Amino acid sequence: MMTVTENPQTSTGSAPGRLYIGGQWRDAADGARTDVVNPATGEKITDVARAGIADVDAAVAAARAAFDEGPWPRMSSRERGRILQRAYELMRERTEELALAESIDVGKPISLARAVDVNNAAELFEYYASLGHHNDGAVRETTGNTHAYVKKEPFGVVVAITPFNFPLILSSSKIAPALVAGNTIVHKPASDTPLSALMMAEILSEAGVPDGVFNVVTGPGSTLGDHLVTHPDVDKVAFTGSTAVGARAASLAAQALTPFTAELGGNAANIVFADADLDQAIDTVISAFVFNTGQFCMAGPRLLVERPIYDTVLGILGQAVPQVPFGDPSDPGTVIGPLVSATQREKVAGMVQRAKDAGVTVVTGGEKVDLNGGFFYAPTVLAGLDSDAEVVAEEVFGPVLTVEPFDSEDEAVALANGTAYGLASGIQTSDLAKAHRVAARLQAGITWINGWALMDPSVPFGGVKASGWGREGGPEAMESYQRAHSIVFNLEQRAAQ
Ligand code: NAD
Repeated sequence: MMTVTENPQTSTGSAPGRLYIGGQWRDAADGARTDVVNPATGEKITDVARAGIADVDAAVAAARAAFDEGPWPRMSSRERGRILQRAYELMRERTEELALAESIDVGKPISLARAVDVNNAAELFEYYASLGHHNDGAVRETTGNTHAYVKKEPFGVVVAITPFNFPLILSSSKIAPALVAGNTIVHKPASDTPLSALMMAEILSEAGVPDGVFNVVTGPGSTLGDHLVTHPDVDKVAFTGSTAVGARAASLAAQALTPFTAELGGNAANIVFADADLDQAIDTVISAFVFNTGQFCMAGPRLLVERPIYDTVLGILGQAVPQVPFGDPSDPGTVIGPLVSATQREKVAGMVQRAKDAGVTVVTGGEKVDLNGGFFYAPTVLAGLDSDAEVVAEEVFGPVLTVEPFDSEDEAVALANGTAYGLASGIQTSDLAKAHRVAARLQAGITWINGWALMDPSVPFGGVKASGWGREGGPEAMESYQRAHSIVFNLEQRAAQ
């Protein structure tokens, strides 16, 4: 068992648990602090500063000054890219510290934290560093006697608000493109999981990001959020989180006429056709719902199975799911760890209990697991549900899979799209024509064929419907931190006087 020391300065690098504003580590103006709890044990790991409104104002002022007067937006994007590349290298050097921070903060299996969280986050920096070398504007052909070119300019001060489930990846997917585009940032990580954001402040400073360009305020969104998204000195808000919180924040930002991107909740369908390679499909189905203990916006918690193989699939899942290594996240063999908090576990348990009360078939799981005082919930497979049952229609955000049969492509598409959300989707089939046909009909920002969570920094993802708008990843994300500035010359020559 990993030893989680009382002092994260030794266990998670030198993250000092203070706010990072204008290149300085500071306590909250009122001295408030918040406990950080290890979800695998329920015990306090450390505490961090709990920012208040005065601290948000200080962070925005630092970012404003760094944008208006500092070197960052005035450097070429190529120079900024070199600094991001250095950040990539430092992240690689500090992989173990970052992975441990992410594991004890979120309850992530350490193997997942290393192979996915740190790796993918570092690759985002490497990818956007490379885009810094290709930040070209355009010359446009015009009909009049004019010459027009379009420059890409940064917005200015960006507020980046992120959720608890992938702190490092989701912050990197905002920070890297926003920085290379020339913006300055105030980052507010989720209050349950602040540790890696503070480590990134150290890494970015060491990489050469000037003071004031990247600022971190740790604290509750319920007290800081409204102020952050309506602050008059903020030029853009990039929000990732739940649909309810995102919708509220978007409406407030709209009143302030502040551009807002929204990466919100998901409830993806994974469609398994009878012609799929069954072994591969089962592996995909299981990893799609247990990955990150189901706390994944692009998880596949709604399994749709073509009727001829429905009973077979249920039988295999009933046997295979309890075999997935479950428990202590510090064990390198663990695949499923605890949920992030007691609150999250109660939410999941409540939704499953209401489904049980309504008569659902519990194929496996369906209960809390008492282990080391952590917030564990057994991987759960439910069948025999109506499509409008709460546990099917709403985002559970835990290791819970619901299984429904279908009889035709049309029915599969209708069930898959029959939710308020539209973030991810998946199709398991050996018929490529069918895969193309069905993918084109799915309402989602990304569709995986014969696999799940096939992520790459170059491939954009994002939502439709209640899953939000905007895209992260790819050049699309960098463009979302830039605006066009057209410069048009009159080429008419005045007649000589
Ligand atoms: P959440 O909405 O509770 O919190 C997200 C962030 O918003 C946190 O930093 C929180 O402190 C902050 N916040 C809270 N109140 C706010 C307010 N009034 N104004 C502004 N910010 C406020 O989400 P969560 O529980 O941390 O994360 C889980 C949710 O995030 C799920 O719904 C999941 O699907 C979603 N998510 C979406 C994506 C995506 O890319 N679409 C990725 C990961 C997670």
